[in-house]
Amino acid sequence: MRISDVIRAKGNAVVTVPPDMDVRALLAVLAEHRIGAVVVSTDGSSVDGIVSERDIVRALADRGATVISEPVSEIMTSEVQTCTPQTPVVELMSVMTHGRFRHVPVVVNDQLVAIVSIGDIVKNRVGELEIERDSLTSYITSAAT
Ligand code: AMP
Repeated sequence: MRISDVIRAKGNAVVTVPPDMDVRALLAVLAEHRIGAVVVSTDGSSVDGIVSERDIVRALADRGATVISEPVSEIMTSEVQTCTPQTPVVELMSVMTHGRFRHVPVVVNDQLVAIVSIGDIVKNRVGELEIERDSLTSYITSAAT
């Protein structure tokens, strides 16, 4: 299984925000779309950063409520780990586990094409394991009769 299989199942919608958007507006975007992270992009295609609810929590703990007036660029992560549609799902699971992040933008030729979350990956793996279990069960029961 590759990331392209995950994208086929979940779709390729990606929510982006510009780096000069303030954190207050970012909170509204996260709440509106019921998501935990967005890609930061000046043009909607380049990946300039990623910002998640964890960045907001950390900045609030460090600097207090004034954070909500700061631009997203102040709290985002600039060194973004990305993948491509060809990346194997198991490889990305390992990247997410070791990097301790739950979102990875998918890029092709430096252009953002999708985003996958740990939830999308888990759903894909569970589906795959269920198919494997069903075929093993049917193999065992047919061999027994
Ligand atoms: P998350 O688990 O995705 O909510 O993110 C946890 C932390 O990792 C936050 O500081 C994010 O900005 C950062 N982060 C999230 N996704 C990535 C990524 N793909 N590459 C690098 N950092 C990331």
